[in-house]
Amino acid sequence: MSLGSSGVTGSVLRIEKTSIHDGEGLRTVVFLKGCPLRCLWCSTPESQNPSPERGYIREKCTLCGLCVDVCPEGALSIDISKKAVVTDKSRCNGCLLCVSKCPSYAIKGYGSIMTTADVIKEIAKDEVFYFHSGGGVTISGGEPLDQAEFVRGILEWCRDMGIHRALETSFFSSWDKIEALLPLTNLMHIDLKHPDPVEHRRLVGVDNAVIMDNIVRADRSAYDFDMVIRTPIVPGVNDSNEAIELAANFVKGLRKLKFMEFLAYHRMGTETYRCLGLEYPLKDIETPSYEYMLAKAKTFAKTARVPVRINGIPAA
Ligand code: SF4
Ligand code: SF4
Repeated sequence: MSLGSSGVTGSVLRIEKTSIHDGEGLRTVVFLKGCPLRCLWCSTPESQNPSPERGYIREKCTLCGLCVDVCPEGALSIDISKKAVVTDKSRCNGCLLCVSKCPSYAIKGYGSIMTTADVIKEIAKDEVFYFHSGGGVTISGGEPLDQAEFVRGILEWCRDMGIHRALETSFFSSWDKIEALLPLTNLMHIDLKHPDPVEHRRLVGVDNAVIMDNIVRADRSAYDFDMVIRTPIVPGVNDSNEAIELAANFVKGLRKLKFMEFLAYHRMGTETYRCLGLEYPLKDIETPSYEYMLAKAKTFAKTARVPVRINGIPAA
């Protein structure tokens, strides 16, 4: 079987090997760049921008100036008063030449442009793990539906090779794009960040009507795939009992739903926010305890007879 020769390109954040968190078994997870949502609790701010980009760690910088010299766009300069390299973001083209030139690892690159064939070559290296662990490939984001054509090429190759295929998505997209990928996907992990449209807009930046409509359409479709609905639990932000009950009422009628998953909020993206020079809106919120998560799972279970997992583990 050819490894694919498609020239379709996509913006890839990174490819993670032997993940156990994004579907069954050992998985290769292809994280894509670009997301139409702006969740206040986003833990991967480096996945939001659709283009490759660079971050900067001032503490590591020796002000040697090599990055300034190599930048083809003149986007970098040294600000002596700040003792830092400053970037004119409007000029940066994301080429990441400065990353490879920096001798101090003070510049970090996020993402690269790859062809479907490039990605498939990486996936092919892990085939043996899928078949021995019951795993497969997961395409995640960012938002995979924003690069639907690129994703389609990867999934088609995986299907032809008999590799299990999962997609992690917000479903904030047109039905056409979703429907094109449903026949190629065995498992859909879909986020439901808040069931109330006003709160959803406040916390995520967009309305949830299209998301909920797409979930129902996908569930009623004739395509054969499993569905998992995932909700991040961000204490005091999106997890009121009313919101949990509203979500339970929405999902309890879904026929393809395998289980509901609650994901505990965490702050592992803090350093990346700093690197990218971005504000982290929820930096003061603590990660909830297991007991807290379990209480939310029990609230959910009172309304919906649906299995619940907490961070991948069945809730006791
Ligand atoms: S990524 Fe390229 S254009 Fe942007 S600052 Fe670095 S060298 Fe310049
Ligand atoms: S190349 Fe690295 S160490 Fe040198 S000025 Fe640029 S960021 Fe700082």
